[in-house]
Amino acid sequence: PLPVLAVVGRPNVGKSTLVNRILGRREAVVEDRPGVTRDRVTYEAEWAGRRFKVVDTGGWEQDVLGIQASVAAQAEFAIETADAVVLVVDATVGATDTDEAVVKLLRRAGKPVVLCANKVDGFSMESDATYLWSLGLGEPHPVSALHGRGTGDMLDAVLAVM
Ligand code: GDP
Ligand code: MG
Repeated sequence: PLPVLAVVGRPNVGKSTLVNRILGRREAVVEDRPGVTRDRVTYEAEWAGRRFKVVDTGGWEQDVLGIQASVAAQAEFAIETADAVVLVVDATVGATDTDEAVVKLLRRAGKPVVLCANKVDGFSMESDATYLWSLGLGEPHPVSALHGRGTGDMLDAVLAVM
């Protein structure tokens, strides 16, 4: 079976945009409205000659209710069944309480995690990413999922732990 990579994080941080980058085509649904990816959606991807599955998840907020609660459950299930996880954080916002809560969840799961500092659209924004060392997940990988900046280096890091 192919190794499985789960892409998790808060709503609107760019998870689906990143998944599209990884796939090299537009497929995952991207929306300005948070929470559009309700369930887990699995795609087959390839990088550096290695094939793997990538799971796009709905984001979640702390103290989730109703539909958001099921989205959180889906994300937790995706983490449980994954071989590696990419945690996407919006570098222009920085680490939020929800991001910290997700980090705790990931620690409990014990899966290898690569930290994606997304929305670093240009060199001048790279310092935003360095604040994310505070999450304790090691090196934040500055990425612009929208423009494709840094995604190759991040995927190299993913394959190194998967
Ligand atoms: P998701 O809810 O985490 O799946 O986030 P989406 O992929 O749906 O993206 C949410 C919004 O963030 C959309 O308007 C995207 O165009 C935007 N976005 C995603 N990645 C980037 C990025 O690297 N830079 C910028 N500036 N915007 C981004
Ligand atoms: Mg999405």
